[in-house]
Amino acid sequence: MPLNSPWRADFPGILALDNQGQTYLDSAATAQKPQAMLDSLLGYYASGAANVHRAQHLPGERATRAFEASRTKVAQWLNAASSEEIVFTHGTSEALNLLAYGLEHRFAAGDEIAISALEHHANLLPWQQLALRRGLKLVVLPLDRDGRIDLAQAATLIGPRTRLLAVSQLSNVLGCWQPVRELIALAQAQGALTVVDGAQGVVHGRHDVQALGCDFYACSSHKLYGPDGVGLLYGHREALAQLRHWQFGGEMVLEADYRHARFRPAPLGFEAGTPAISSVIALGASLTYLAGLDGAAVAGHEAALHAKLLAGLNAREGVRLLGAPQVALASFVVDGVHSADLAHLLSEQGIAVRAGHHCAMPLLKSLGLPGTIRVSLGLYNDGEDLERLFSALDKSLELLR
Ligand code: PMP
Repeated sequence: MPLNSPWRADFPGILALDNQGQTYLDSAATAQKPQAMLDSLLGYYASGAANVHRAQHLPGERATRAFEASRTKVAQWLNAASSEEIVFTHGTSEALNLLAYGLEHRFAAGDEIAISALEHHANLLPWQQLALRRGLKLVVLPLDRDGRIDLAQAATLIGPRTRLLAVSQLSNVLGCWQPVRELIALAQAQGALTVVDGAQGVVHGRHDVQALGCDFYACSSHKLYGPDGVGLLYGHREALAQLRHWQFGGEMVLEADYRHARFRPAPLGFEAGTPAISSVIALGASLTYLAGLDGAAVAGHEAALHAKLLAGLNAREGVRLLGAPQVALASFVVDGVHSADLAHLLSEQGIAVRAGHHCAMPLLKSLGLPGTIRVSLGLYNDGEDLERLFSALDKSLELLR
């Protein structure tokens, strides 16, 4: 089956990489962008830049309208109840740091924060450092054999001292969906706040924050076919009201004198300074593009590609897949071969995959691995990309063995 992507031609970056002899299989790190996004980015600058939420003049009003229209599109995309529940940050990492600082006052020594064993550093270190600052206990929920958070064990570890649960929706290393709804129910039964790291999950069809029922959901534009420099933080209205302000500066105050200030509520109270205006607007264009696609066709294409990827990797001797990947990516190791060496040989043959610990060092340590190779897919990838990967992999393994 050829597995052509009908959307490939919409992504000039992928076509350019084709011309450079590069097969891009690293979309979980960052995705290529649709032409509509590039047009928006250029269009904003070419028609006259202006700051938002400040000026009375026409260019300023135009920029503010476009900026706020993006907020509305994000709210629709995530199925938030209101655009006031969407805070723009500079990435998932910043959104999670915002929460760890903004919620700090709610913790007392001895309180517990539950995370899982597979978290990306972005959803580990902010909580770890908060725990160190406040004398809290970081509880790490273990995984089952397939790489999913073990619900039976979670039920015994999430208890009355748990004040917050922060878990990934889709693992960036193992590619498996996590039982986030069940975990949220366990945490909410104890009165804990719930945070979902949706950096990977949001890209692959599960982006309904009301269905998830979490208090907060963080993700990044650049993985969602939008520009970099923009993160999205959804917070349920009541959860946002519990946050203390954490960064201070322009446009986040209601009123200030030399001694005191009063701050705006969310979202603007958490967007100090000039935001990434062009990028926020261009993210809106990416979301419009994505909303115009046939979601079932995209999911079907991604599932067929993923099945081909897994079958091709499983068919190769010595290749060992990690966990039980369900969507979008697969991590593997080859017995007796260092993943950095393999990635180097693949790169020499024009295959762009990621090697290393994927910013999840504790997970890799617990698996006893210095690193893995991760292949990740975007909606523009096709069967030929995978054929090129497989033949480069075969050549590399021949050389290394
Ligand atoms: N969480 C997960 C699961 C991720 O994959 C990533 C990006 N690799 C992040 C958080 C951090 O995202 P960003 O670098 O855009 O802040």
